[in-house]
Amino acid sequence: MFAKGKALKGINSHIIMLLSALEGYEGVAPVEVPARLKSIKELFPSAHEIKCDDEGKALPLIKEVHSLLYVFDLKKNCEDEIGAMGDLNFQKPLWKEALNAVCAAVESADKNDFAAVRPPGHHAYKDEARGFCYLNNIVIASRHLLMGGKAKRIFIMDFDAHYGDGTHFLVKDDSAFLYGSVHGDPRHYFPMRRWSSDNAFLFDVEPSTVNDEQFLAYIDKLLERARAFKPDIIAISAGFDTWHEDPVLPFNIKDENTYYEVGRRVKALGIPYFAVLEGGYSKALPRLVKAFYDGGFA
Ligand SMILES: [Zn+2]
Repeated sequence: MFAKGKALKGINSHIIMLLSALEGYEGVAPVEVPARLKSIKELFPSAHEIKCDDEGKALPLIKEVHSLLYVFDLKKNCEDEIGAMGDLNFQKPLWKEALNAVCAAVESADKNDFAAVRPPGHHAYKDEARGFCYLNNIVIASRHLLMGGKAKRIFIMDFDAHYGDGTHFLVKDDSAFLYGSVHGDPRHYFPMRRWSSDNAFLFDVEPSTVNDEQFLAYIDKLLERARAFKPDIIAISAGFDTWHEDPVLPFNIKDENTYYEVGRRVKALGIPYFAVLEGGYSKALPRLVKAFYDGGFA
């Protein structure tokens, strides 16, 4: 197990967090709803709200990860209000809200901060929206760092309850990335897809068997691999649907300090990092985000 260490001063210390602005997207009831982000905002009243006012600046970044055709289709589907399709919902405000999420993720990458965004991104593919996700925020922000020469090697650590199939697929042929994730076994739980590649290590677990202690043991294993990879930056897909009250998967995390510990242990590694919100659908979400933020960023 990775040894407990003291957090380094000067790395990822912030007094505010970033929040992507809501534009009226209704999402997918009953879980992927605006209340998720609103409740976080209430707990972080001084959070810096990000609006993506310059679509022209965001699109070149997005097109590094998604196909031009897909991006135009997404925008048109939103303009046309084609509505609900399973776990997606194409409405006019979604387009701006998705751009806001990308811009907040990019800013969090630039500032080594946490971006609480909506919609999430780790199930989104180059040409496909899935699982509440339309644009892959964490990969777009990571590519931005690579293209800007701010990083050569990036470790993506995904601790959402679900496997980030879109993220893994988007980086699986790129040796600049290592993708590590602990998640409910995707053969039995969403996304029901699983990729394999040399630049990934995946812990497929049965959620009901994972308590606080075991979850942190998986986090330590992820961080051991991160340390060996020697990344310039760690990009964190931070999901909080491992909480025991979360309606989507039956993980058994019952102590919010566990998320504080995740943040603290990442910080103790001494490698710069940033984080972007993925899932988390229980009423406890803002408290869980705050615990992680206090451990890793405050
Ligand atoms: Zn999730």
